[in-house]
Amino acid sequence: MPVSGLGPYDPNNVFARILRGEIPCRKVYEDEFALAFHDINPQAPVHVLVIPKGAYVSFADFSAKASEAEIAGFFRAVGAVARALGLESEGYRLLANMGPASGQEVPHFHVHIFGGRPLGRMLAS
Ligand code: AMP
Repeated sequence: MPVSGLGPYDPNNVFARILRGEIPCRKVYEDEFALAFHDINPQAPVHVLVIPKGAYVSFADFSAKASEAEIAGFFRAVGAVARALGLESEGYRLLANMGPASGQEVPHFHVHIFGGRPLGRMLAS
């Protein structure tokens, strides 16, 4: 069920539980600002999620409320993860769903990194 990008933060969402260590994940990277792990239902040979450590519902929430250090740290982490995954030479796609029209399912801001094959057109339909 898609979620609103603008509602209050639900501290029991699945990514909050992963951050607290209550649910396991296949971690690929972690630093002060971000955690990255493999998507449980991969849509490409490489499909990794990068999430900020702070409690932000969506990109809208993160971009409006996160500190400059959190925003810089998070996006540097996204780049570092893609680099560490060996995707820079072939290229990759970043995607962040925001709110109902996008189909966002998990109400904790996250960026998807897709790679490992030609990714086709930007949008499926
Ligand atoms: P979105 O539709 O942008 O909110 O994407 C949510 C993503 O989280 C989907 O690609 C799911 O497959 C993924 N996901 C949901 N639960 C887990 C989990 N426990 N571990 C890893 N990925 C998950």
